[in-house]
Amino acid sequence: MSRRTIILAGLAAAAVAVFAARGPLLERLTVRQIDRTLTRVDSRPLEDGALHVILCGTAAALPDPERAGPCTAIIAGGQFWLVDIGPGAWRNLDVWNLPVGKLSGVLLTHFHSDHIGDLGEAITQSWIAGRKTPLDVYGPQGIDDIVDGFQCAYSHDAQYRVAHHGEAYMPSAGSRALAHALPTPEGDAAVPVFERNGLRVSAFRVDHAPVDFAFGYRIEYRGRVVVISGDTVKSSAVIHNAQNADLLLHEALASHMTERAGARARAIGLERVGKMAGDVRGYHTTPVQAAEVAAAAQVKSLVLTHIFPPLPNALARHLFLAGTADAYGGPLQLGYDGLRIDLPAVEAHSS
Ligand SMILES: [Zn+2]
Ligand SMILES: [Zn+2]
Repeated sequence: MSRRTIILAGLAAAAVAVFAARGPLLERLTVRQIDRTLTRVDSRPLEDGALHVILCGTAAALPDPERAGPCTAIIAGGQFWLVDIGPGAWRNLDVWNLPVGKLSGVLLTHFHSDHIGDLGEAITQSWIAGRKTPLDVYGPQGIDDIVDGFQCAYSHDAQYRVAHHGEAYMPSAGSRALAHALPTPEGDAAVPVFERNGLRVSAFRVDHAPVDFAFGYRIEYRGRVVVISGDTVKSSAVIHNAQNADLLLHEALASHMTERAGARARAIGLERVGKMAGDVRGYHTTPVQAAEVAAAAQVKSLVLTHIFPPLPNALARHLFLAGTADAYGGPLQLGYDGLRIDLPAVEAHSS
C-alpha cells in the first residue's frame, strides 16, 4: 500500500472508532455538565470568616448595557444580605454561582424603582433555590407598601409552584417576606438594624429629597467596616458614619457630563430630557464630592457605584473620574458589576 493509502485507511478507522464511541462519550460529557451545574454554588464565602462585598449592580436609573440596577451583596458570618436589588441584579447573583438559596434578607436604602425592581425575583428565586422561611426586608418607613405590593404581584406564582411541586419541597412560608420598618435616625446618628453572629448593621439618614426617607448603611464584621452611601447629595452623615472605614461605596453622578448632555438636549429640541438631566443633579453626589467625603472620613478605600451617566468607553470613564485623585489620595476604583472585595477578619470572632 502506498503511504497515502495507509494514512487514508488510518483516518477511516479512527472515524469509525469515534462514531462507535460517540454514544458513551456524549453521555459522559452530558453527565459531567449536569453535575457541574448542580454543584456550581460556591458556599465558601459564608463560612470563611471574612467580610465579602460583591457589587451585583452598579448602574443608576438609566438602562446601561454593562450594569444592572443598584445592588451590593454582603456575605459574612454565615449570612448573605443584599443592599438594594435593582433591575437585572438578581440574574447577576444567580449566574455568578453565589449561594442564593441562603439569602438572609434585603436592606433597602429607599424606594426609587432602580433600587427595588428585582425584589420580587429575590424573594421568589431564593425560595426556589432552597430558602424555607420568610425573607427579612428592612428599609425606611413605607417598606410595608413595597413588600406587600411585590408579594401581591407574585402571589399567583407562589400558588402555582406549591401546587406543582408540593408543600414539602416548596414550603409556602419561603415564598413570603417580612417587612421591617426602621426608625428614622436623628441628625447624623445611626440606628441599629440588627446584630447576628458578629455581623452588625446600622442605618443612617441621608439627603435625597424629595425622597423621604433615604438611608445609608454601615456594616461591621470582625473588625472590618463597610459603608454604603445610598442615594444622597454630599452628606455629613456619610462622613460621620464612615470614619476610618475599610471601604466606602459611594454613589456618583457626573454632573459635569450630564449638564453638557442636558444643554445639548435642549439645543436639539429635547426639552423634557434637558429638564430631567438638570433635576437629577440636585439630589446626587459628584465623583469629586464623593472623593471629598472619602477624604474627610479618612476611609481606607473608595469605590464609586450607582454610576451615572452610563460610561460606554475609556474616554467616558476618564472624564467621569476627572479631579477625583486630587480630592482623595487613597485607593479609588470605579465600581463594576462583579467587583468583589474580600476583607479578612482583623479581630477574633467574639460570638
Ligand atoms: Zn438611585
Ligand atoms: Zn434614588
